[in-house]
Amino acid sequence: TGTADNIAHLIGNPRFRFIRHDVTHFLYVEGPIDVVLHFASPASPVDYLKYPIQTLKVGALGTHNTLGLARVKGARYMLASTSEVYGDPQVHPQPETYWGHVNPIGPRGVYDEAKRFAEAMVMAYHRVHGVDTRIVRIFNTYGPRMRLDDGRVVPNFIGQALRREPLTVYGDGSQTRSFCYIDDLVEGITRLLEVQEHEPVNLGNPEEVSILTFAEIINRLTGNPAGIRFLPDRRIPGDPQRRCPDITKARQRLEWSPQIPLEEGLRRTIRWFEERLRSAALADAGSRYGE
Ligand code: UDP
Repeated sequence: TGTADNIAHLIGNPRFRFIRHDVTHFLYVEGPIDVVLHFASPASPVDYLKYPIQTLKVGALGTHNTLGLARVKGARYMLASTSEVYGDPQVHPQPETYWGHVNPIGPRGVYDEAKRFAEAMVMAYHRVHGVDTRIVRIFNTYGPRMRLDDGRVVPNFIGQALRREPLTVYGDGSQTRSFCYIDDLVEGITRLLEVQEHEPVNLGNPEEVSILTFAEIINRLTGNPAGIRFLPDRRIPGDPQRRCPDITKARQRLEWSPQIPLEEGLRRTIRWFEERLRSAALADAGSRYGE
């Protein structure tokens, strides 16, 4: 669900090689490998509902294949898991010890259960084969290089605001999320790789904000006069009502906590989307001029 543009700046770097491969099929890479990071999966509800079976396969078969690669190479392994393993949680904020509240047969189940299975598989490879594994439970993360049309709240709202449209809030907007800026997440992931911690670690920003307040912040930062449009509850049932990480474990084990405040991260992200829209408009005008 990503785009090749996101790695365009790395092409030509002699220390970078891009291999396009479907990890739900057997996987082999020549030469030594230090670390396998299994981050393949749609993560936007809109995307995983468009690809429900692929989402299940990449969480299940993709995890099995990438673990097999790590095992044969003696590599460290990291699974990108998710706050969705907690489902629509009944405990706030969510510590790693919480087992979650997930509907296996609801539409979000394809993602939630795939990641829960993936975690079980990683722990089994660690316990049975001694693979040096990590599991990171990633909470809502945002920043440059998101797809403008990926359907998640950050690109949706920023895109709408820059087009001077009202922001579409599902339900009454009282549901909460907590948004972590990408650079903070990357720092946490890097630190997790360096410690011996095989059980899951939450990474996310513990600052909880309602979706309505979030929409107001985006309108203010972009100077969007179009306001907010309330839509009926999301078409995707099971939208978690509250979500906020307990990051005590990451603070203690990794000495990590998010450093970029929400508004600062949003300013950077808005700037990036503005530039993207501007160059897309220029390219569009250029191609029409060429006609
Ligand atoms: N949301 C919204 N308007 C949008 C997109 C999302 O109100 O245009 C809400 C959605 O109902 C959810 C929250 O924003 O409560 C976060 O949704 P997102 O798709 O970003 O990811 P989730 O956290 O649900 O996995």
